[in-house]
Amino acid sequence: MSVLTVLVTGASRGLGLELCRQHAQRGHKVFACCRTPADAHALNQLHLDVLPLDVTSDESATALAAKLDETHVALDILYNNAGVALNRKANMEDVNTDLWAEFLNTNVLGPARVLKACIPALRRAENGKFKVVNISSSLGSIGRLADGVPVDLPATDVVYRSSKAALNMSTACTAVDLRKTDPNAVVVAVHPGWVDTDMGSRRGNNDGLPEVKPPLNVEESISGVIATVMAATTKESGTFLDFAGGADLV
Ligand code: NDP
Repeated sequence: MSVLTVLVTGASRGLGLELCRQHAQRGHKVFACCRTPADAHALNQLHLDVLPLDVTSDESATALAAKLDETHVALDILYNNAGVALNRKANMEDVNTDLWAEFLNTNVLGPARVLKACIPALRRAENGKFKVVNISSSLGSIGRLADGVPVDLPATDVVYRSSKAALNMSTACTAVDLRKTDPNAVVVAVHPGWVDTDMGSRRGNNDGLPEVKPPLNVEESISGVIATVMAATTKESGTFLDFAGGADLV
């Protein structure tokens, strides 16, 4: 059997960097994509194939596709991991809609753009058995909003939550659409847990809110994410999985 090939977006730091590290450690071939490879010092130390990719840019996604096609890369797993969260959480009344559109462009259109660019490479996977993993968040679960908004946050964070809810629906629709053309494809959204990254800890936000200490480190989160992804079959395609395994988060 050939070596598993994976592509990770947003690989410069946080969960994306750890996805690259753990897949490389398993002997997999990794294409690590980030906005500015020259500045991705931690990533460059892993000595992987690093490719430039800004997920908000059609041009950038097209250039990535050309690179993959040039060398006939067969992609087994695509991780749409790149994402953004607002520094200052917004309520519906004070939300800046231009900013909201920007966030949707990264968190929702980004994964769609990258999937479209990578489809030829994914279809070269053995027996068409490829996986698309959209890194989502339980904050995008409408069912879970009923559990309450954390008390230390001043707002619902409608921008981030709506972007991940849209990503979840986009995941489900993609799974249904691909079932017709690619019956062996698996498309899932995965919640990685609450993790100590720049985003998870609010590090560097400079927004007056205190930094917090999330319960998980990147190693714990990503070993769970990878185990969940490796175990996912066509039966789970279209669902929203928790990093610790288990049911559709909805
Ligand atoms: P970080 O803020 O630590 O890292 C975000 C990554 O996304 C960086 O590599 C960043 O690149 C990249 N990125 C942002 N915008 C773009 C873009 N336009 N093009 C390409 N890359 C981009 O976040 P995490 O590692 O914590 O988050 C990774 C994913 O996990 C996100 O989708 C997030 O929503 C999700 N998530 C995280 C949770 C947590 O607790 N940490 C919980 C639930 C979900 P650059 O270095 O260039 O800025």
